Amino acid sequence: MSAHSSRGTTWERIREAILRRDGYRCKRCGKAAGRSNLEVHHIVPKHRGGRDVSENLATACRRCHIELTRIEKNPARAEWEAHLGV
Ligand SMILES: [Zn+2]
Repeated sequence: MSAHSSRGTTWERIREAILRRDGYRCKRCGKAAGRSNLEVHHIVPKHRGGRDVSENLATACRRCHIELTRIEKNPARAEWEAHLGV
């Protein structure tokens, strides 16, 4: 047992499932990367009610994740939604 909370353990499991589902490729730019260079991104941010469910999660490389987090903070985040076709 590590110092992580049980939520952390669950998140690790979800994260791994999403990375595998997406083939270890960024859903935004299509780049394949090792799991340590990939993030699992919340399409609807948690502070807007997004949940840790597969429909709300997508693999993003570090660079895109930073970019997406920035996009989320302004209304232009429609770009990401259009990319995913949601
Ligand atoms: Zn990317």
